Amino acid sequence: MEPSENIEEYLETLWIFEENGVALARISEIAQRLSISRPSAVEMLKKLEERGYVAYKEREGVKLTKRGRKAAEQIIRNHRLIELLIKNTLNAEIDEKVVCGIEHHMTEEFANTLCRSLNHPRQCPHGNEIPRGKCCK
Ligand SMILES: [Zn+2]
Ligand SMILES: [Zn+2]
Repeated sequence: MEPSENIEEYLETLWIFEENGVALARISEIAQRLSISRPSAVEMLKKLEERGYVAYKEREGVKLTKRGRKAAEQIIRNHRLIELLIKNTLNAEIDEKVVCGIEHHMTEEFANTLCRSLNHPRQCPHGNEIPRGKCCK
């Protein structure tokens, strides 16, 4: 996995926590979700904080900054659009490994092209909301 993809996985995880009403995620929860050790989660979150993607408070938890949320939203959007493409257009089973591989390599322009061709869908096949892109407005 490329380092930037790794960063994106963290952002994606935090975004999903937020979606589920957890605004301040605990390190242990993040580590568990990503199947990594607590120290490596802390190390990574410090890097994310340096880059301005998260705000990290010791003993309290982590939350996305505006910048982090924006970056995460694009990945989530990619993820859910690809799921829909696989399921509805290709009539194939969703393989999360494939989805997670592709989502990090899409430009915003490509996501919008895909979104347009799928007629600006609002939900992924799992019923989760797809964040809107510029094309949807
Ligand atoms: Zn989904
Ligand atoms: Zn759209």
